Order: sequence, then structure tokens, then C-alpha cells
Amino acid sequence: MSEIKDTIRTIPNFPIDGIMFRDVTTLYSNPNAMKEVVNLTANFWENEGLTCVAGIEARGFVTGSLIANYLSLPFIPIRKKGKLPHQTISQDYDLEYGKATLEIHIDALNKSDNVLIVDDLIATGGTAIASVELIKRLEANVQGCSFIIDLPELGGRKKLENIGIKVQTLCAFEGH
Ligand code: AMP
Repeated sequence: MSEIKDTIRTIPNFPIDGIMFRDVTTLYSNPNAMKEVVNLTANFWENEGLTCVAGIEARGFVTGSLIANYLSLPFIPIRKKGKLPHQTISQDYDLEYGKATLEIHIDALNKSDNVLIVDDLIATGGTAIASVELIKRLEANVQGCSFIIDLPELGGRKKLENIGIKVQTLCAFEGH
């Protein structure tokens, strides 16, 4: 676990003053640490009856697709507005400044699906909760959410757990 945390680089004041940006590109460039991410995540969820893994654009695509492939499961992309080519459903959510929208293909999931949501980091939880909403609107079940990094002071993990979602995180950083 500490190997994973040690590979993550922190860039102060990116993209705006006051944010400590947790840069996972330095994790991506370390194959042993990436294998550890995939193994820890796959082992944690392997007996939960998953039928697919949904990754949140863009960093959730990198680990989400590796985890899906490791578990021999389909990978489903949750994308920013206007990127998916077929018919979609959309979910708006609040950012620190302004709003954003996530989308999923309308035929990506159905009520027999049991979905693991993957992203690199959970902060306030807005992105993950919008993804949970999209999956529920397609009548699929959210089995849980997995993140490499938790920022516990921002409370996102607690918000997910308070709506009944099981959460796995692989390491945590203090502050924002
Ligand atoms: P939130 O919706 O507040 O939980 O924010 C989570 C999303 O924003 C994830 O997709 C992260 O990639 C990104 N994010 C938020 N805070 C940071 C941070 N300090 N460093 C890197 N990425 C972040």
C-alpha cells in the first residue's frame, strides 16, 4: 500500500491556488505499483458478483479498464457531456465553482447488472454520486466504488457510505 502512495506526486497550487493536486501519472509509470492497484482492487471485489466495471473520465478509464480486464468483465465509460456517440442519459452535479455533467450510454447497463464504479480520487464525492445516479437510473445495482486516493477531510467517502454504497480506497492524503 505504501508503495502505491509513495508513487503519487503532489503538485501544490494546481490547477488553482490552494489545491494540492495528487498526480497519478507517476503511479501510471510504475508497473509494479499499477499491478498492486489492480490486484488489491480485484481481490477486494472478486466475490461480490460484479457484472461490469464503470470508469469515470478520464483517470477512471486507466485503472477501471485494467481492473475490468483482470476480472474478465466488460468496461463501461462514464464520460463528460457531449463525448459519447450513441443516445445517452445525463446527470448534472456541482463543482467547487459551477456545474458539470456526466453521461452514460442508455444501453450500457440494465437491471441485471451489478456495477463497480472506479475513479482515481474521491474528494467531495460529487463526481462519484452523479455516477451512482446514472447507474441507478438505468435500473442497475451499484455494488460499490473504488478509488486509489481518499481525501477524508472533504467527506466524499462518508457521503457515499451514508447513501448505502460500499467504498474501497487504497491510500489517503490529508487536506484538500
Ligand atoms: P469530487 O467530485 O470532489 O469527489 O472530485 C473528484 C474528481 O476530481 C476526481 O475525478 C479527481 O480526479 C478530481 N480531483 C479532485 N480533487 C483532486 C486533487 N486534489 N488532486 C487530483 N484530482 C482531484
